[in-house]
Amino acid sequence: MILVRFLIIFFASGAIAEETSEEQREHIRLSEATEVWEPEPKVIEAPVNAAPSDAVVLFDGTDLQGFESVRGGPATWRVEDHAFTVVPGTGDIRTKQSFCDVQLHLEWRSPPVDDRLVSQGRGNSGVFLQERYEIQVLDSYQNRSYANGQAASVYKQYIPLVNVMRPPGEWQSYDIIFQSPRFADDELMSPATFTVLHNGVVVQNHVEVRGPTRWIGAPVYEAHGCAPLKLQDHGNPVSFRNIWIREL
Ligand code: MG
Repeated sequence: MILVRFLIIFFASGAIAEETSEEQREHIRLSEATEVWEPEPKVIEAPVNAAPSDAVVLFDGTDLQGFESVRGGPATWRVEDHAFTVVPGTGDIRTKQSFCDVQLHLEWRSPPVDDRLVSQGRGNSGVFLQERYEIQVLDSYQNRSYANGQAASVYKQYIPLVNVMRPPGEWQSYDIIFQSPRFADDELMSPATFTVLHNGVVVQNHVEVRGPTRWIGAPVYEAHGCAPLKLQDHGNPVSFRNIWIREL
């Protein structure tokens, strides 16, 4: 009796196993039908606290060779302690290289508080993608200003989702994903978009830029191609370090 029961279980389980196996084969066939193997993503390295291996390092702490003054000639902002600082009055600087769609990482630091300076006067600079589209750099730590002009705003267009400022004197990070606008001849086909993380926190979530960011008046697109990254001299000694960019 025990033997009979054993044989029944043996054959029954065999049949189930065969049935499951057929079902599994069907699942594998179906799953393979939606697999895509090409193109295989390029292998890169992303060391901790360093630029990914496929990034263009724009500032590695040593010199401003990758930049030039927008007025012509070399960038003359002050380089020291693996960072560089705006020298007020010397004008904006920009990369020698032009970029289209990018992922940009940079770190910046507001100067010590000067109580005589408030709102837009305190620690103002800016990161301009393609020399036109500004992510505001400002000391927005306990320093109220218009919200669409505070740190991490798309200047005069988008208020950051939160204010995640560290106090002046501490380093802040921006990670910016920028898609450039598309033009057909002179006509706008699709606007630029920004996604921005400030100190690792999403503050701009794929917003559509309305045109070059302007202090006065409404933004208006004009067709252009790839263009340099520009940093603003707004008269305050803001510092920068660890700048790298990846072309997308
Ligand atoms: Mg600015």
